[in-house]
Amino acid sequence: MKVKSQTLGILGGGQLGRMSALAAARLGIKTIILCPEKGCPASLISTGFIEADYLDKEALKQLADQCDIITYEFENIPLKTIEFLQDFVPVYPDHKLLEASQNRLKEKKFLNDIGIETAPWAPCHKADDIKATLEEWQTRECIIKTARFGYDGKGQIFYKDNSDYLESWNSLRTDEAIIEGVIDFDYEISVIVARDEKKTVKTYPIGINEHKNHILWKTTAPAHIPDEIQNEAARLAHLVAEKIELIGVLTLELFITKDGRVLANEIAPRTHNSGHWTIEATHASQFENHVRAVCGLPLGSTDAFAKATMINLIGDDVNDIPGYLEQDNAHIHLYGKEEARDGRKMGHVTIVEKF
Ligand code: AMP
Repeated sequence: MKVKSQTLGILGGGQLGRMSALAAARLGIKTIILCPEKGCPASLISTGFIEADYLDKEALKQLADQCDIITYEFENIPLKTIEFLQDFVPVYPDHKLLEASQNRLKEKKFLNDIGIETAPWAPCHKADDIKATLEEWQTRECIIKTARFGYDGKGQIFYKDNSDYLESWNSLRTDEAIIEGVIDFDYEISVIVARDEKKTVKTYPIGINEHKNHILWKTTAPAHIPDEIQNEAARLAHLVAEKIELIGVLTLELFITKDGRVLANEIAPRTHNSGHWTIEATHASQFENHVRAVCGLPLGSTDAFAKATMINLIGDDVNDIPGYLEQDNAHIHLYGKEEARDGRKMGHVTIVEKF
C-alpha cells in the first residue's frame, strides 16, 4: 500500500517556521520554505528551501507546484503574494486575517467593529494629529506606533508631556501611524486559538507575558488568573477566529487593567512566541495544531498537563545554556542562528513542572 504524504509550503524562514516544520515532520508532512535569507532557521531543518523574494512570481509558482497547501509564519508577507498563490493552491489562513493584522489602524477598527474593546486610538498622518488628539483626549501622553511593520517595540514611541510634536513624528519615519492612549495595565496575557476546516475551535490555556526592552522575555502558563478573565479572553479569541473564518492558529494579545477590564492590543495572524511552552506542556502544541488545521487534519487537544515557564534567549543570553543543560526539567531550543546580536531571539528554554 502506498501512503501519500502532503507537502506544506511555508512563507518565511524564522523560528516559527522552523518549529512548524518540525511539527509537520512528526506528522509525516514534508515542508518547503520560501524565504529571501539563505541559512534561515527554518531552511536548516525543512525538506526543501527556495531562496527568493516574496514577490518573485517565478519562485512562488515553483513553490505552488511542489506544495499541496501553503501557509505563512509572519505577518509581513505581502497580500499580493497570497493572492497570487491562491490561484494555484490553497493558502491558509487566508488573506482576510493578514489584511486585518498588517495595519494597526485596520486591526483596531476590526476589533472595535466586532465589539472588542481596545485602548482609545486615533489615526496619525502628521505631527499636528498628535497635538489635536491629545487635546481631544485631554491627556499629555500617548503611544504612537507606525501603522505597519512594527515588532518588539520597534516603530513605536512613548510621547510624554510637551515633547516636540514634529520631532516625535519625524522620528517614526512614516506617513501613517496610530496614536494610542496609554493603558495602565496590571498584566499582559495572550490567548492562542486554533480553528480547523470543520470549524472546531480550541484555545490554549492562557500565558502571562513579561517583557524586557519591549521584547517578550518570559511566559508563565497556565496563568493563575481569575476564571472570569480566562473565560473572557477565550471568548474574545473565539470571536476573532470565527469572524475571520480562521483555518490555522492566531494569537490575541490582551491587556488586563487593574479594574479587571480585558482590552485587546494586537492580533498575531500566526503561532506566537508566548505559545512556545505548548511544545512540552500540552498534548498538541501550537505548531502541531497549526499544521493540522491547514493540512485538513482534526485539531489535537490543547489541554496542558504540566506547568511551564518559557524564557527567551535573547542576544548574549545564549551564554546561559550550559546552566540549562544541567537542569533536568529545562527543555532547550536553539534556532540555528549563527550571530547573537542585541535583541535577537536566539532560542528559548521551557522549564516544565508537574501540576
Ligand atoms: P505592541 O507592539 O503593540 O505589541 O506593543 C509592545 C508592548 O508595548 C506591549 O506588549 C505593551 O507592553 C506596550 N504597549 C503597547 N501598547 C500599549 C498601550 N496602548 N498602553 C500601554 N502599553 C502599551
